[in-house]
Amino acid sequence: MSKTVAFIGLGNMGGGMAANLVKAGFKVNAFDLMEANLKAAADAGCTPVDCSKRAVEGADYVVSMLPNGAIVEAVYIGAEGSEALLDVIPKTALVLDCSTVAPANSRRVGAEAEKRGIQFVDAPVSGGVAAAAAGTLAFMVGGSEANFEASKPVLEAMGANIFRAGDVGAGQVAKICNNMLLAIHMAGTAEALQLGIDNGLDPKVLSDIMLKSSGCNWSLEKYNPVPGVMEGVPASNNYQGGFMVDLMLKDLGLAQEAAIGSRSSIPMGSNARNLFNLHKNGTEDKGGKDFSSIIELYAKGL
Ligand code: NAD
Repeated sequence: MSKTVAFIGLGNMGGGMAANLVKAGFKVNAFDLMEANLKAAADAGCTPVDCSKRAVEGADYVVSMLPNGAIVEAVYIGAEGSEALLDVIPKTALVLDCSTVAPANSRRVGAEAEKRGIQFVDAPVSGGVAAAAAGTLAFMVGGSEANFEASKPVLEAMGANIFRAGDVGAGQVAKICNNMLLAIHMAGTAEALQLGIDNGLDPKVLSDIMLKSSGCNWSLEKYNPVPGVMEGVPASNNYQGGFMVDLMLKDLGLAQEAAIGSRSSIPMGSNARNLFNLHKNGTEDKGGKDFSSIIELYAKGL
Protein backbone atom coordinates (compact mmCIF):
# COMPACT_ATOMS: atom_id res chain seq x y z
CA MET A 1 0.00 0.00 0.00
CA SER A 2 1.29 3.46 -0.80
CA LYS A 3 2.60 5.53 2.10
CA THR A 4 0.99 8.85 3.04
CA VAL A 5 2.86 12.15 3.23
CA ALA A 6 1.40 15.26 4.86
CA PHE A 7 2.91 18.22 2.99
CA ILE A 8 2.69 21.67 4.60
CA GLY A 9 3.77 24.78 2.64
CA LEU A 10 3.19 24.56 -1.12
CA GLY A 11 4.97 27.71 -2.30
CA ASN A 12 7.63 28.14 -4.97
CA MET A 13 9.56 25.15 -3.62
CA GLY A 14 6.96 23.03 -1.83
CA GLY A 15 4.63 22.93 -4.85
CA GLY A 16 7.18 21.14 -7.04
CA MET A 17 8.38 18.90 -4.20
CA ALA A 18 4.85 17.70 -3.38
CA ALA A 19 4.19 17.01 -7.08
CA ASN A 20 7.30 14.79 -7.22
CA LEU A 21 6.11 12.80 -4.20
CA VAL A 22 2.87 12.12 -6.07
CA LYS A 23 4.85 11.01 -9.15
CA ALA A 24 6.85 8.63 -6.93
CA GLY A 25 3.63 6.94 -5.77
CA PHE A 26 3.02 8.59 -2.38
CA LYS A 27 -0.44 9.71 -1.34
CA VAL A 28 0.06 13.38 -0.53
CA ASN A 29 -2.26 15.34 1.77
CA ALA A 30 -1.42 18.97 1.03
CA PHE A 31 -2.02 22.11 3.08
CA ASP A 32 -1.15 25.77 2.49
CA LEU A 33 -2.69 29.03 3.66
CA MET A 34 -2.97 30.22 0.05
CA GLU A 35 -5.93 28.94 -1.97
CA ALA A 36 -4.06 29.25 -5.30
CA ASN A 37 -1.25 27.01 -4.04
CA LEU A 38 -3.75 24.41 -2.79
CA LYS A 39 -5.39 24.43 -6.21
CA ALA A 40 -2.03 23.92 -7.98
CA ALA A 41 -1.24 21.03 -5.63
CA ALA A 42 -4.61 19.42 -6.40
CA ASP A 43 -3.87 19.78 -10.14
CA ALA A 44 -0.59 17.94 -9.50
CA GLY A 45 -2.42 15.01 -7.90
CA CYS A 46 -2.22 15.92 -4.20
CA THR A 47 -5.27 15.76 -1.92
CA PRO A 48 -5.86 19.33 -0.72
CA VAL A 49 -7.06 19.68 2.89
CA ASP A 50 -8.29 22.70 4.83
CA CYS A 51 -5.96 22.54 7.84
CA SER A 52 -2.59 21.09 8.84
CA LYS A 53 -4.24 18.93 11.51
CA ARG A 54 -6.31 17.16 8.85
CA ALA A 55 -3.22 16.76 6.63
CA VAL A 56 -1.32 14.72 9.24
CA GLU A 57 -4.16 12.24 9.92
CA GLY A 58 -2.76 8.77 9.19
CA ALA A 59 0.49 10.19 7.80
CA ASP A 60 3.65 8.07 7.61
CA TYR A 61 5.74 11.18 6.93
CA VAL A 62 5.19 14.90 7.53
CA VAL A 63 7.14 17.26 5.24
CA SER A 64 7.13 21.04 5.72
CA MET A 65 8.49 23.77 3.43
CA LEU A 66 7.71 27.01 5.24
CA PRO A 67 9.15 30.54 5.03
CA ASN A 68 10.97 30.88 8.37
CA GLY A 69 11.72 29.55 11.85
CA ALA A 70 8.99 31.48 13.65
CA ILE A 71 6.38 29.91 11.37
CA VAL A 72 7.95 26.43 11.66
CA GLU A 73 7.88 26.66 15.47
CA ALA A 74 4.32 28.06 15.47
CA VAL A 75 3.13 25.17 13.28
CA TYR A 76 4.83 22.32 15.17
CA ILE A 77 5.02 23.60 18.75
CA GLY A 78 2.14 26.09 18.62
CA ALA A 79 2.12 29.87 19.03
CA GLU A 80 -0.13 31.66 21.51
CA GLY A 81 -3.60 30.13 21.30
CA SER A 82 -2.75 27.73 18.45
CA GLU A 83 -2.50 23.98 18.77
CA ALA A 84 0.83 22.17 18.44
CA LEU A 85 0.81 19.97 15.34
CA LEU A 86 3.21 17.65 17.19
CA ASP A 87 0.30 16.84 19.54
CA VAL A 88 -1.71 15.29 16.70
CA ILE A 89 0.97 13.79 14.42
CA PRO A 90 0.90 9.97 14.64
CA LYS A 91 3.69 8.65 16.90
CA THR A 92 4.88 6.38 14.08
CA ALA A 93 5.41 9.26 11.65
CA LEU A 94 8.76 10.76 10.69
CA VAL A 95 8.78 14.57 10.49
CA LEU A 96 11.07 16.22 7.92
CA ASP A 97 11.30 20.00 8.04
CA CYS A 98 12.85 21.15 4.73
CA SER A 99 12.52 24.90 5.44
CA THR A 100 15.64 27.02 5.98
CA VAL A 101 15.59 28.11 9.63
CA ALA A 102 18.07 28.70 12.47
CA PRO A 103 19.70 25.52 13.84
CA ALA A 104 18.13 26.51 17.20
CA ASN A 105 14.62 26.37 15.65
CA SER A 106 15.28 22.82 14.40
CA ARG A 107 16.72 21.74 17.75
CA ARG A 108 13.69 23.13 19.63
CA VAL A 109 11.22 21.40 17.32
CA GLY A 110 13.34 18.21 17.43
CA ALA A 111 13.36 18.23 21.24
CA GLU A 112 9.58 18.77 21.40
CA ALA A 113 9.09 15.94 18.91
CA GLU A 114 11.32 13.66 20.99
CA LYS A 115 9.30 14.44 24.16
CA ARG A 116 6.24 13.09 22.32
CA GLY A 117 8.06 10.04 20.91
CA ILE A 118 8.02 11.42 17.34
CA GLN A 119 11.11 11.17 15.09
CA PHE A 120 12.38 14.42 13.51
CA VAL A 121 15.04 15.52 11.02
CA ASP A 122 15.88 18.93 9.59
CA ALA A 123 16.41 18.56 5.84
CA PRO A 124 16.94 21.97 4.19
CA VAL A 125 17.52 21.98 0.46
CA SER A 126 19.63 23.54 -2.24
CA GLY A 127 18.94 23.84 -5.95
CA GLY A 128 16.17 26.38 -6.32
CA VAL A 129 12.73 26.23 -7.87
CA ALA A 130 13.88 24.48 -11.07
CA ALA A 131 15.49 21.65 -9.07
CA ALA A 132 12.41 21.39 -6.83
CA ALA A 133 10.26 20.90 -9.94
CA ALA A 134 12.74 18.49 -11.56
CA GLY A 135 13.25 16.41 -8.39
CA THR A 136 16.99 17.10 -8.37
CA LEU A 137 17.38 19.01 -5.08
CA ALA A 138 20.31 18.51 -2.72
CA PHE A 139 19.21 17.71 0.85
CA MET A 140 21.35 18.43 3.92
CA VAL A 141 19.98 16.31 6.72
CA GLY A 142 20.39 16.78 10.47
CA GLY A 143 19.30 13.79 12.57
CA SER A 144 20.28 10.36 13.83
CA GLU A 145 21.72 7.76 11.43
CA ALA A 146 18.51 5.76 11.80
CA ASN A 147 16.26 8.72 10.99
CA PHE A 148 18.52 9.67 8.08
CA GLU A 149 18.02 6.19 6.61
CA ALA A 150 14.28 6.35 7.30
CA SER A 151 13.99 9.71 5.52
CA LYS A 152 15.61 8.46 2.29
CA PRO A 153 12.51 7.07 0.50
CA VAL A 154 10.88 10.52 0.73
CA LEU A 155 13.99 12.56 0.01
CA GLU A 156 15.01 10.39 -2.96
CA ALA A 157 11.65 11.16 -4.57
CA MET A 158 12.45 14.88 -4.43
CA GLY A 159 16.23 15.07 -4.74
CA ALA A 160 19.34 13.80 -6.47
CA ASN A 161 21.90 14.30 -3.69
CA ILE A 162 21.23 13.49 -0.05
CA PHE A 163 23.78 14.16 2.68
CA ARG A 164 23.79 13.64 6.44
CA ALA A 165 25.49 16.70 7.96
CA GLY A 166 25.25 15.52 11.59
CA ASP A 167 22.64 15.55 14.36
CA VAL A 168 19.45 17.67 14.43
CA GLY A 169 20.32 21.27 13.46
CA ALA A 170 23.42 20.30 11.46
CA GLY A 171 21.50 20.35 8.18
CA GLN A 172 20.69 24.00 8.85
CA VAL A 173 24.33 24.86 9.60
CA ALA A 174 25.34 23.36 6.22
CA LYS A 175 22.52 25.24 4.48
CA ILE A 176 23.46 28.58 6.09
CA CYS A 177 27.11 28.18 4.97
CA ASN A 178 26.00 27.26 1.45
CA ASN A 179 23.59 30.17 1.07
CA MET A 180 26.09 32.69 2.39
CA LEU A 181 28.45 31.52 -0.37
CA LEU A 182 25.59 31.66 -2.92
CA ALA A 183 24.84 35.29 -1.97
CA ILE A 184 28.53 36.16 -2.29
CA HIS A 185 28.97 34.61 -5.74
CA MET A 186 25.68 35.97 -7.07
CA ALA A 187 26.63 39.50 -5.95
CA GLY A 188 30.13 39.01 -7.39
CA THR A 189 28.75 37.68 -10.68
CA ALA A 190 26.36 40.62 -10.98
CA GLU A 191 29.20 43.05 -10.20
CA ALA A 192 31.50 41.53 -12.84
CA LEU A 193 28.80 41.35 -15.52
CA GLN A 194 27.77 44.97 -14.93
CA LEU A 195 31.40 46.09 -15.14
CA GLY A 196 31.62 44.36 -18.52
CA ILE A 197 28.36 45.92 -19.72
CA ASP A 198 29.48 49.39 -18.60
CA ASN A 199 32.67 48.89 -20.60
CA GLY A 200 30.91 47.93 -23.80
CA LEU A 201 30.71 44.13 -23.61
CA ASP A 202 27.70 42.04 -24.58
CA PRO A 203 26.72 40.25 -21.32
CA LYS A 204 26.06 37.00 -23.23
CA VAL A 205 29.57 37.06 -24.74
CA LEU A 206 31.12 37.94 -21.37
CA SER A 207 29.12 35.14 -19.69
CA ASP A 208 30.31 32.61 -22.31
CA ILE A 209 33.92 33.70 -21.73
CA MET A 210 33.72 33.49 -17.93
CA LEU A 211 31.90 30.14 -18.06
CA LYS A 212 35.06 28.69 -19.64
CA SER A 213 37.41 30.72 -17.46
CA SER A 214 38.35 30.87 -13.79
CA GLY A 215 35.36 33.07 -12.89
CA CYS A 216 32.92 30.22 -13.59
CA ASN A 217 30.48 29.56 -10.75
CA TRP A 218 26.91 28.27 -10.13
CA SER A 219 25.27 31.71 -10.47
CA LEU A 220 26.84 32.11 -13.91
CA GLU A 221 26.15 28.52 -14.98
CA LYS A 222 22.58 28.12 -13.79
CA TYR A 223 21.15 31.50 -12.81
CA ASN A 224 22.53 34.35 -14.94
CA PRO A 225 21.29 37.65 -13.39
CA VAL A 226 21.15 39.66 -16.66
CA PRO A 227 17.71 39.61 -18.36
CA GLY A 228 17.70 37.73 -21.66
CA VAL A 229 21.10 36.03 -21.36
CA MET A 230 19.67 32.70 -20.21
CA GLU A 231 16.25 31.20 -20.83
CA GLY A 232 14.04 29.90 -18.01
CA VAL A 233 15.71 31.80 -15.17
CA PRO A 234 14.01 34.49 -13.04
CA ALA A 235 16.13 37.27 -14.66
CA SER A 236 14.34 36.52 -17.94
CA ASN A 237 10.95 36.55 -16.16
CA ASN A 238 11.07 40.00 -14.54
CA TYR A 239 12.78 38.37 -11.50
CA GLN A 240 9.64 36.46 -10.55
CA GLY A 241 9.23 32.88 -9.35
CA GLY A 242 12.64 32.08 -7.89
CA PHE A 243 14.29 32.69 -4.52
CA MET A 244 13.09 35.95 -2.99
CA VAL A 245 15.43 38.69 -1.76
CA ASP A 246 13.57 38.55 1.58
CA LEU A 247 14.41 34.84 1.95
CA MET A 248 18.07 35.41 1.04
CA LEU A 249 18.19 38.23 3.62
CA LYS A 250 16.75 35.83 6.20
CA ASP A 251 19.53 33.32 5.41
CA LEU A 252 22.25 35.98 5.57
CA GLY A 253 20.84 37.03 8.95
CA LEU A 254 21.07 33.40 10.09
CA ALA A 255 24.71 33.37 8.94
CA GLN A 256 25.37 36.50 11.04
CA GLU A 257 23.76 34.90 14.09
CA ALA A 258 25.76 31.70 13.61
CA ALA A 259 28.99 33.69 13.20
CA ILE A 260 28.32 35.69 16.37
CA GLY A 261 27.63 32.46 18.25
CA SER A 262 30.85 30.81 17.08
CA ARG A 263 32.88 34.06 17.07
CA SER A 264 33.69 33.52 13.38
CA SER A 265 34.68 36.30 10.98
CA ILE A 266 32.48 36.53 7.88
CA PRO A 267 33.42 39.83 6.18
CA MET A 268 32.22 38.70 2.73
CA GLY A 269 28.95 37.38 4.18
CA SER A 270 28.41 40.64 6.07
CA ASN A 271 29.00 42.65 2.90
CA ALA A 272 26.58 40.41 1.02
CA ARG A 273 23.90 40.96 3.69
CA ASN A 274 24.39 44.73 3.43
CA LEU A 275 24.21 44.63 -0.38
CA PHE A 276 20.97 42.64 -0.38
CA ASN A 277 19.56 44.90 2.35
CA LEU A 278 20.40 48.05 0.35
CA HIS A 279 18.82 46.43 -2.68
CA LYS A 280 15.62 45.53 -0.81
CA ASN A 281 15.27 49.02 0.63
CA GLY A 282 15.81 50.93 -2.63
CA THR A 283 13.26 53.26 -4.17
CA GLU A 284 10.70 50.43 -3.96
CA ASP A 285 10.65 47.32 -1.73
CA LYS A 286 12.42 44.64 -3.79
CA GLY A 287 12.06 41.93 -1.14
CA GLY A 288 9.61 39.96 -3.28
CA LYS A 289 11.88 39.82 -6.33
CA ASP A 290 14.22 36.95 -7.10
CA PHE A 291 17.65 37.41 -5.49
CA SER A 292 19.45 37.63 -8.87
CA SER A 293 17.83 41.09 -9.17
CA ILE A 294 20.79 42.24 -7.02
CA ILE A 295 22.30 43.33 -10.38
CA GLU A 296 19.82 46.23 -10.34
CA LEU A 297 21.86 47.68 -7.48
CA TYR A 298 24.86 47.92 -9.81
CA ALA A 299 23.08 48.72 -13.07
CA LYS A 300 22.91 52.19 -14.53
CA GLY A 301 19.50 52.18 -16.13
CA LEU A 302 18.49 48.51 -16.36
P1 NAD B 1 7.21 30.64 -0.56
O1 NAD B 1 6.91 31.88 0.18
O2 NAD B 1 7.01 30.58 -2.04
O3 NAD B 1 6.38 29.40 0.08
C1 NAD B 1 6.07 29.29 1.44
C2 NAD B 1 4.63 28.76 1.53
O4 NAD B 1 4.31 28.51 2.91
C3 NAD B 1 3.60 29.76 1.01
O5 NAD B 1 2.82 29.14 0.00
C4 NAD B 1 2.77 30.13 2.25
O6 NAD B 1 1.42 30.36 1.96
C5 NAD B 1 2.95 28.86 3.08
N1 NAD B 1 2.69 29.05 4.51
C6 NAD B 1 3.11 30.05 5.32
N2 NAD B 1 2.68 29.84 6.59
C7 NAD B 1 1.97 28.68 6.57
C8 NAD B 1 1.29 27.93 7.56
N3 NAD B 1 1.24 28.33 8.84
N4 NAD B 1 0.66 26.78 7.19
C9 NAD B 1 0.71 26.36 5.90
N5 NAD B 1 1.36 27.04 4.90
C10 NAD B 1 1.97 28.17 5.25
O7 NAD B 1 8.73 30.26 -0.20
P2 NAD B 1 9.69 29.21 -0.93
O8 NAD B 1 10.55 29.94 -1.91
O9 NAD B 1 8.91 28.02 -1.35
O10 NAD B 1 10.64 28.84 0.30
C11 NAD B 1 10.25 27.95 1.34
C12 NAD B 1 11.46 27.61 2.17
O11 NAD B 1 12.46 27.02 1.34
C13 NAD B 1 12.11 28.81 2.85
O12 NAD B 1 12.53 28.45 4.13
C14 NAD B 1 13.29 29.12 1.93
O13 NAD B 1 14.34 29.78 2.62
C15 NAD B 1 13.67 27.73 1.47
N6 NAD B 1 14.37 27.65 0.18
C16 NAD B 1 13.91 28.31 -0.91
C17 NAD B 1 14.58 28.18 -2.13
C18 NAD B 1 14.10 28.90 -3.39
O14 NAD B 1 14.87 28.90 -4.39
N7 NAD B 1 12.91 29.48 -3.40
C19 NAD B 1 15.71 27.36 -2.23
C20 NAD B 1 16.13 26.67 -1.10
C21 NAD B 1 15.45 26.81 0.10
